Amino acid sequence: MKTKGKVTGIISNLVIAEVDGPVAQNEICFVAQGDTRLMAEVIKITGNKAFVQVFESTRGLKTGNMVEFDGHMLEVSLGPGILSSIYDGLQNNLKTMESVFLKRGEYTAPLDTAVEWDFKPIAAPGTRVRAGSWLGEVVENNLPHKIMVPFKFKGDYTVKSVVPAGAYTIDTTVAVLTDERGNDREVTMVQKWPVKLPVTCYRNKPRPFKIMETGVRIFDTFNPMAEGGTGFIPGPFGSGKTVLQHALAKQAEADIIIMAACGERANEVVEIFVEFPELTDPRTGRKLMERTIIVCNTSNMPVAAREASVYTAMTLGEYYRAMGLKVLLLADSTSRWAQALREMSNRLEELPGADAFPMDLSAIISNFYSRAGYVELENGNSGSVTFIGTVSPAGGNLKEPVTESTKKVARCFYALAQSRADSKRYPAVDPVDSYSKYLEYPEIQEYLNTVVEENWPEKVAESKNIILKGKEAAEQINILGDDGVPVEYHDRFWKSELIDFIILQQDAFDKIDSSSPMERQKYMLGLVLGICRRQREFDNYEKCAAYYKNLINILKQLNYSEFKSEKFREYEALLN
Ligand code: ADP
Ligand code: MG
Repeated sequence: MKTKGKVTGIISNLVIAEVDGPVAQNEICFVAQGDTRLMAEVIKITGNKAFVQVFESTRGLKTGNMVEFDGHMLEVSLGPGILSSIYDGLQNNLKTMESVFLKRGEYTAPLDTAVEWDFKPIAAPGTRVRAGSWLGEVVENNLPHKIMVPFKFKGDYTVKSVVPAGAYTIDTTVAVLTDERGNDREVTMVQKWPVKLPVTCYRNKPRPFKIMETGVRIFDTFNPMAEGGTGFIPGPFGSGKTVLQHALAKQAEADIIIMAACGERANEVVEIFVEFPELTDPRTGRKLMERTIIVCNTSNMPVAAREASVYTAMTLGEYYRAMGLKVLLLADSTSRWAQALREMSNRLEELPGADAFPMDLSAIISNFYSRAGYVELENGNSGSVTFIGTVSPAGGNLKEPVTESTKKVARCFYALAQSRADSKRYPAVDPVDSYSKYLEYPEIQEYLNTVVEENWPEKVAESKNIILKGKEAAEQINILGDDGVPVEYHDRFWKSELIDFIILQQDAFDKIDSSSPMERQKYMLGLVLGICRRQREFDNYEKCAAYYKNLINILKQLNYSEFKSEKFREYEALLN
């Protein structure tokens, strides 16, 4: 028997209903309005009153209308056919829609039930399995897609039967499992999972120990991201957050890309809609969209739907991770998500925390980030979800609650500086404020020393030091004037400029410079450090400046030339 309720109060999207039975926190319900059924989520319960957040506009809704509770939380459907999809936060398929916006009360099927997938069994009858075990495999956009024991299955099972290789739709029973008590359960190619609960079908979640190459020098060389790691990119409007995320999506060493476009302005989401499907995958030469999923919500969608979208995206990521794949999850921007949380908490008249965000904002953000990670699966394979979110702090204020809460949990911090964006020093990641805590992990240092290059961490530290000293010198020159400081100060300043222009700055729109493989990054850092280590005496600061400007111009040409090509060698010869 489903619990029913009656609407007794309406405050914007918040509906209060008197209920006739038990309801659970975060349970899904439908509020009837004529023939339309509006989806909603329970966000607070007191006695027989349920406070539900409607995912849509409540325009015209009346007291006395019926509410029907569904008995489960907001769930996503997991199965083949998710790749290339564009969903909203409730997993409505927006591609089948005429526009980004659905009509009220309209929900679409997330997966196509008519498509037949070529299934190959993995587990033989008699195999012992549990939630997350691989039963079979289909090929989804050229990637292996594992059909697993549903994550909701508790305890141990024995495979009773698996269908032979062949073409099946997602609703076909492909396996029968027997539980400890001898009861049979059927498994299809699709399963459901509540988005707010982490998927924990793995044996172990060790600390990240590998670098995830991105082809972006300020990441890989300076502040590396780890596979299964977390990071965030705070930056004011126009500082390059979106360009940077697109570069990561295209170039990072990941099998699957999930873009959560969370509550940015509608036109920006439409941009993703139009631009992303056009992007070419540098690895395959085909469309990047083949291994991408977009989950998008705009700020004109109702607040609860916006809040749901990041969870939906994370759950999809965890699903592919359980197949042993590397997932990169990008969210732009998590500030809109936090604002959605704020709107909801304010409507509930909860006691507010800083800047009227909910008191538990830190905990919510921390719980979310902790779902990312590198995991060892029960079958010995590994998978990962790497999460990088942007934050758009109002007025570029990095002391606001969302930035501060995120800083506590994200291991990498890529602060985009307005001043750098203004002077077109892209990507505008501030080299002094930004950091990667992974550089401090002994296992990452070991990885860098063995896989990248011996003494690589020392080289990185040396370059950071040059940047720091250059900044100090620049301040002195600013105060005392060009002639007021020893020429040596200018030398220090120009060495940091050399690293800035050649290593940190990178043109996202240049065919060659946009992506720099690690081999090339190693080579360039070696070259630049070689120059910085030379001791040179200059008669005056002008000669010093001229000397480095010339070098910068030559080295820039190297960045724009095919690695180790003839042209590259010609420019290199000019350095001597
Ligand atoms: P945000 O998302 O922070 O509002 P965008 O990512 O849209 O900012 O970037 C704004 C503009 O800055 C871009 O349209 C582009 O002209 C420039 N830009 C940003 N990053 C780069 C880069 N790496 N190389 C060249 N231009 C860039
Ligand atoms: Mg943007």
